[in-house]
Amino acid sequence: MFFDTHCHLDTQPFDADRDAVLARAHAAGVTRFLNPSYDLGSSRRATALAAARPDVWAAVGVHPNDIGHLDDQCLYEIEQLSQQPRVVAIGEIGLDYHWNTFPRQQQIDGFVRQLQLAQRLHLPVIIHCRDAYEDTLDVLSKFKIEDANNLQFSILLHSFAGNSQQAEEALGRGYYLGIGGPITYPKNESLREIVREMPLGQLLLETDTPYLSPQKFRGKRNEPSHIPLIAERIAQIRGISVAELGAATTANACQWLMVNG
Ligand SMILES: [Zn+2]
Repeated sequence: MFFDTHCHLDTQPFDADRDAVLARAHAAGVTRFLNPSYDLGSSRRATALAAARPDVWAAVGVHPNDIGHLDDQCLYEIEQLSQQPRVVAIGEIGLDYHWNTFPRQQQIDGFVRQLQLAQRLHLPVIIHCRDAYEDTLDVLSKFKIEDANNLQFSILLHSFAGNSQQAEEALGRGYYLGIGGPITYPKNESLREIVREMPLGQLLLETDTPYLSPQKFRGKRNEPSHIPLIAERIAQIRGISVAELGAATTANACQWLMVNG
């Protein structure tokens, strides 16, 4: 019923109980998972997990907070991994001006190199953007990322946290917005306003597991079984049923990633 489009299942917090976490997710109706990566090690782990489980797909790439590791060899290995059958996207890549772990220009260069890779491979892209929407939208405006059939503009702004003008710009270009736990935070009225008005066809559900737990579990480890808490809040905001929201967002995710599930 639900597709969690952003869960870091490969990471250490799940080493002790990964199978139990996924079983709980299935019991909650969350039956498909996209595991994004943040560096070469996580790209390898996510690819291996996706190869081992029919309900998990992987994205490969280097996060802006790890961009210092992106050299020619790393990019070559990311490309090799991207050829595996269950690797369906490049990500998460982008800009992070909150932590500024690396200089802005270095982040932009690494972002552009990975966008060029996605463009050449016709793979969708998962964007990480923190306090950097202006530059992110500017860099993306120079790219047209299409799928293998040249049909679609395949960019997801994961855990969208921009303002209404930035949302309007992104939606106008055909990007998807990933919505997760922050939609449940009491002070997040501005995000709820965006989610109320945006086209349902561009909305994707995500947890960002193990981060960004919904309000009910805030401060604790997040996991994909929490997707229904996010879906219930969005369905309430939009005045539709949870079943309708689940069906629509899962169809969006399958179309975006070109997978059947
Ligand atoms: Zn993430």
